[in-house]
Amino acid sequence: MTDPNQAQDQPTQQAPGAEAPPPVAPPPPAPAVQPVPGQVVCPKCGGANCRRVSFTWWGGAVGPAILKHTKCNNCGATFNGRTGQSNTTGIVIYSVVVGVIGIAIIVAITVAGG
Ligand SMILES: [Zn+2]
Repeated sequence: MTDPNQAQDQPTQQAPGAEAPPPVAPPPPAPAVQPVPGQVVCPKCGGANCRRVSFTWWGGAVGPAILKHTKCNNCGATFNGRTGQSNTTGIVIYSVVVGVIGIAIIVAITVAGG
């Protein structure tokens, strides 16, 4: 009796070709320059290197404090640190109000002393 050479059938196990590609989430778009709460950002150049102005020729020490006058150290623009808008209108209003009050005080003194 000869030992028959039996071919061993080795079934190959292959995974079925149903490989779903992994879902790729698109990267979130880079946010634009947004004002950070508590952080003053220059409305002109978007820089955060800003500081409050403590004294100005038009408002002394009170005017810039009222208007939150802020100056950008990057481009030199001045603006309202609270609203981020230009302070030109506020400066005009402040000057007019101060002028009216000053005139009113002078008139009152003149009338009272007359
Ligand atoms: Zn700036």
